[in-house]
Amino acid sequence: MPATRTLPKIEIEQDKCISPLKCGKCLQVCPTVVLYSIPKQNEKFHECSYDDFTLVVNNRPACQACMKCVEVCPVDCIKIEYEG
Ligand code: SF4
Ligand code: SF4
Repeated sequence: MPATRTLPKIEIEQDKCISPLKCGKCLQVCPTVVLYSIPKQNEKFHECSYDDFTLVVNNRPACQACMKCVEVCPVDCIKIEYEG
């Protein structure tokens, strides 16, 4: 049987997030590109303003629970729970 591990639970309080394009500190520090910035609406990507982007969990299995994103967020809107 392959070793399994519990995936970290990642919660983002979207209404508190400044904007992944204006701030983006969590995106810069994540070593495994777990978080991603996407347009809130898929169409007309080129017409989006900074405020039209939102932060999503793109690759949860890659999260190492290093907590760098939590530590760097200026408004404490990322919560990660990991039971090991
Ligand atoms: S805890 Fe670490 S690996 Fe997980 S999303 Fe945050 S920065 Fe990335
Ligand atoms: S560090 Fe916090 S405020 Fe900045 S983009 Fe990430 S979640 Fe949003």
